[in-house]
Parts: sequence; structure tokens; C-alpha cells
Amino acid sequence: MNKNNWESCVRKVVPYVPGEQPQFSDVIKLNTNENPYPPAPDVRKILDDFDCGRMRLYPDPDSTVLTDAIAKRYGLKSSQIFAGVGSDDVLAVAFMTFFGSDRPILFPDITYSFYDVWADVYRIPYRQIPLKSGFNIAPEDYVTENGGIVIANPNAPTGVAAPLEVIENIVKVNPDSVVIIDEAYVDFGGESCLPLIERYENLLVVQTFSKSRSMAGMRIGFAMGSEKLIKYMNDVKFSINSYTMNTLTQLCGAAAVKDEKYFNETVSKIIETRERSKKRLAELGFTFTDSKANFIFASPPKKSAQYVFDELKKRRIFVRYWNKPVICEYLRITVGTDEEMDKLFEALEDILNG
Ligand code: PMP
Repeated sequence: MNKNNWESCVRKVVPYVPGEQPQFSDVIKLNTNENPYPPAPDVRKILDDFDCGRMRLYPDPDSTVLTDAIAKRYGLKSSQIFAGVGSDDVLAVAFMTFFGSDRPILFPDITYSFYDVWADVYRIPYRQIPLKSGFNIAPEDYVTENGGIVIANPNAPTGVAAPLEVIENIVKVNPDSVVIIDEAYVDFGGESCLPLIERYENLLVVQTFSKSRSMAGMRIGFAMGSEKLIKYMNDVKFSINSYTMNTLTQLCGAAAVKDEKYFNETVSKIIETRERSKKRLAELGFTFTDSKANFIFASPPKKSAQYVFDELKKRRIFVRYWNKPVICEYLRITVGTDEEMDKLFEALEDILNG
């Protein structure tokens, strides 16, 4: 054997590139779909009252306070909930748990760009299914041999939401595969397929506290599904790291999910701002999808998306841009506060007419 050939044994991967987190404060940050409003007021109380002495102890490995609160909110049993450190963690565990076949898993060609990265790191074969015009999913494209399916609904980065019938069709014709529906953005106007989990044992619904519950920095995601699916995920999680979610996060998450009124108020505000922003973008000549998420996927008139992205950045306004086929003429703009959006529109007017 070659000397010093340890590198041939390295698991080499091309990592996911997360959106930029600028480390200065005077920016308008519309690039990672964070919520512009603070978390529910009771989260503050948990932080104020937290006894640091509890840090001596390991956290509850089952995150019981959190899974109980989520189960209550969604009318499920706690044994139907899996909690993880952001939905990225939940999805990574789900990929590792359910996608062990030699057959390729399927997902759209334009979607959350972490799916192919997880597939690569776990050596899962995959096939990307081209979206139809208007970035829509055609359920008939998923009637083919596969080792699993993952669909973001509403989709990222397009914001396009598939109706429940489309999702049900895909789940129904694939009883031999686990179908993961990533509902990171569903609270902003999509239709959740959660009611289907009673009928389809192979359906896993994944959601997050990062967007509609304003807690991206805390890292909380969760999956809902049949007890069987959740048990399999827990078996994998407990084979890697039992104590993934810290005590404080579990308590804060439980407090957040209990405040339905605050949740509805902030989500409604974002939806209102999104719809108002679509009107302003249309006036400026942008074309865009009818996003049901907390972002708008929009293509600028007159100037290239790359140019507009760069010019916005010079003005300390961060949006997201991918230099990839098909989507390279679009910007993904997170919906911020009304004030932030007004500053964005002022800058866009200046850039497009400058
Ligand atoms: N799914 C989709 C479609 C996303 O856009 C994101 C956000 N990057 C995630 C999952 C992960 O979010 P988090 O880990 O913050 O829950």
C-alpha cells in the first residue's frame, strides 16, 4: 500500500453553501428567509428565568417538552413527532434513515440545493426531475421506479406551491417509497399535507421553527409521520448522537409553539407585506412567481439579476442569487418588514433607472 495515502480514504464531498451571514449590523438582510419579527414573547421569559445550573445536566434526549407541545398543536401523538436541530438536521437524518435503496431518489431539478448534497454525502443515487413551465411539479413524472422522493412545498427558491391533490397523487402511487414533503415555508400560504399522514404510512412531513416562528438562530426542526417512520428515525439518531438538542432550545421551542395568537399575527403581517411587495415589483417591471412563501423569486427588467444583486450589496442590501442555469435571471428576496421593503424598492428604482 502507498505510504501517506490516507487521502484516498477520505469521504470527499462538495458542501452546501449557506446564504451569507454578514457580521455587521447596518444591513438589510433579505437573503436567508429569516423572519423580521422577534420570537413569541414567552421565549424571552424562558431565557430570563433559565437556571444556568441546569447546564450541568445532559438535555432530555427525547426533547419531550417540545415534542409534546408540537403534538398538541397539530393534534398528533408525541410518538409521531421527531425533533431535530433545524429541519436540515431532520432532513439529513431522514435521508440516512429512509433512502437506503440502490434505486435513485427523485426530486425536482430546481429545489432546495441541500438535497443533492445529502444524497452525495450518504452515497444515495438520485435523479433530478425537470419542473414543468411556471416551475410546476407534474405528478406523473414521479410514477417511475425510485428509492424515495423529496419535495419542498412550497418549493424553494421559487415559492411555487403544489396543491394537495398533486402531493397526494405522488404519495399514493409510491407506496413502496418514503415520500418526504419539506414544508419549511408552508405557514405562509401553502396547503399542508399533514392530514394525509393518517392514511399514508410512507409520508413524512418536515417543518421548521426558523421561518414562521422566528427562531432560525435556535435551530429547531421537526418531522411528523406514522409512529413507524418516527421510530426508525429515532433509531438512527440514537445511533449517532442522542443529545442533539440542548435544554434551553427545547424549552424555548415549547414556549413558541404554544403562542398561536402571536404566530398568526406575525405570519399575517409577512403575507400582507409579500402581497404589497409583489405589486411594487410588478410596477418596477419585475416578473415573478406567485410565491406562497416568505420570499419572492423575481426576475428584474432592463438589467441582469447578477448586476442588480451586486448593486444591492453595494448599498448593504443582501438578497440571494444563484449563477445556475434557468434561475440565473432571478433574485430570491426574503420578505422583511414594510420599512425594509420600502428601502429595497427605493434602491431598485435607483439601480434600474441609473
Ligand atoms: N428546507 C428548505 C426548503 C429550506 O429553504 C430551508 C432553509 N435553508 C431548510 C429546509 C432548512 O431550514 P432550517 O434548518 O433552518 O430548519
